[in-house]
Amino acid sequence: MPAQKVPVDGHTNGVEVHRTKGLLDWSSFKNVINGELETTSKTRRSINPATGEPGPEVPVATKGDVDRTLEAAKVAFEKWSQVSYSDRQHAVLAFADALEIEKENFSQLLTQEQGKPLVFARFELDLAIQWMRDIAKLELPEESVFEDDKEIRVRYTPLGVTVGIVPWNYPILLATGKIAPAVVTGNTIVIKPSPFTPAGDLKLVELAQRFFPPGVVQVLSGDDSLGPILTEHPIPAKISFTGSTFTGKKVMESASKTLKRVTLELGGNDPAIVTDNVDIAAVAPKIAGLAFLNSGQICLALKRIFVQETIANEFLQAMVEATKNLKIGPGTDPDVYLGPIQNKMQYEKVKTLFADIEAQNWKVAVGGTNPGGKGYFITPTIIERPPLDSRIVREESFGPIVPFLTFMDDAEAIKLANDTHMGLGASVWCNDIERANNIALKLDAGNVWVNTHFELDPRFPFGGHKQSGIGVEWGVGGLKSFCNSQTLFLKRNSP
Ligand code: NAD
Repeated sequence: MPAQKVPVDGHTNGVEVHRTKGLLDWSSFKNVINGELETTSKTRRSINPATGEPGPEVPVATKGDVDRTLEAAKVAFEKWSQVSYSDRQHAVLAFADALEIEKENFSQLLTQEQGKPLVFARFELDLAIQWMRDIAKLELPEESVFEDDKEIRVRYTPLGVTVGIVPWNYPILLATGKIAPAVVTGNTIVIKPSPFTPAGDLKLVELAQRFFPPGVVQVLSGDDSLGPILTEHPIPAKISFTGSTFTGKKVMESASKTLKRVTLELGGNDPAIVTDNVDIAAVAPKIAGLAFLNSGQICLALKRIFVQETIANEFLQAMVEATKNLKIGPGTDPDVYLGPIQNKMQYEKVKTLFADIEAQNWKVAVGGTNPGGKGYFITPTIIERPPLDSRIVREESFGPIVPFLTFMDDAEAIKLANDTHMGLGASVWCNDIERANNIALKLDAGNVWVNTHFELDPRFPFGGHKQSGIGVEWGVGGLKSFCNSQTLFLKRNSP
């Protein structure tokens, strides 16, 4: 199945709100330990970022819960790792079908707890379903060479108990993107959601219980202390982490004590390079859409816009007009493109960039002031030609505020785009495909696009260069990251 295109043109169509009768009871949200739904004596609630209202009550797992969960995962691994690869593939495919039945209920909850517009919540569910299906269909064949007296064979064996740590921007997609490769390769996995978006992941793993034996897929909701308890614990063999570069470094440090494997999918500061020969009216709205999608809260959002000097003013004007058309509001309202910032901590962080507008004398092309009131809303903002050493250029804003910058020639564009310690994604927008490809091949990022951005495909590996990560997820490379490589030297004659 081809990768799905992101709806980035600012049109979200009408939104209807309704619950469908599905497979799950949506009235309570619990940890899943060894196949059982469990609550804890202490509980907490996250906040609906559009309204400030409390979300559903969720558990706060203790160290004792972690011990029991990881022990159950260890026991379950003994049998699950012996289940045939094709039976494990079928279990993931059945899980994906069930998620499709429950898609509308998950989407409604996602808008409520994450804040994203309902149309994009549904899109996240579509991607999650597709991710599980495509990953489940990947094969991981052994490689072998036959020589006169021996066979040399490489096979991939599961690691054991794994932990998937998930952020708040795509809580369902990123959890399924860890569960599917972990279990299809014979591992067991414990999901730890972000404390900002726990409810959807709790339900996701509850749903998984219909397709996997107890202990194979588990979930623990908790507070800020839970992540370190899991990464320090002696049982897990691997941590699959998606989150900020700052936290990724802590995870790696903690995991190093027992030499756990880590995959780190971290922050980005993605450049778009727009050359002088593009159709401005067609490209400028796409660039604006890709900068402000999910209110800029995407690792792969466009975070630095570089436009060739000769078309810069005209292009900026077209981006400004496109940005003015992007509607902000609660994700339940029709036609909304930008929901709120997901949580107060991130909202306050993004607001410091707005404080810098005055303090640093930045020129605002559009936006720049904020609505205030209930909910963590931020107006999409473009800063025109800020200094290259300013925070808005150097740091990942993770909010709807981007710098608009220029370059004279392709060599300068490449130099500026690569001048960052991040290397997650990058794109080139150019009507001359040979010229575009020449630029693309010189960009230092894990994912490089020509004339699009953020179009991912679970059949291929995804990862970051430099401080955007270590290792890959998804694709055959992602399956291998959940395995040990074992080389067998098999003599054919008797000793
Ligand atoms: P975060 O690093 O604050 O948190 C991510 C997860 O780590 C959460 O579940 C959190 O509870 C947990 N955590 C926090 N401290 C921990 C610790 N010491 N040990 C173990 N776990 C800990 O990130 P966030 O704010 O939730 O997400 C935003 C960041 O994630 C951005 O930087 C974004 O670019 C990045 N991100 C990267 C990708 C990718 O695939 N590369 C995808 C989405 C988001």
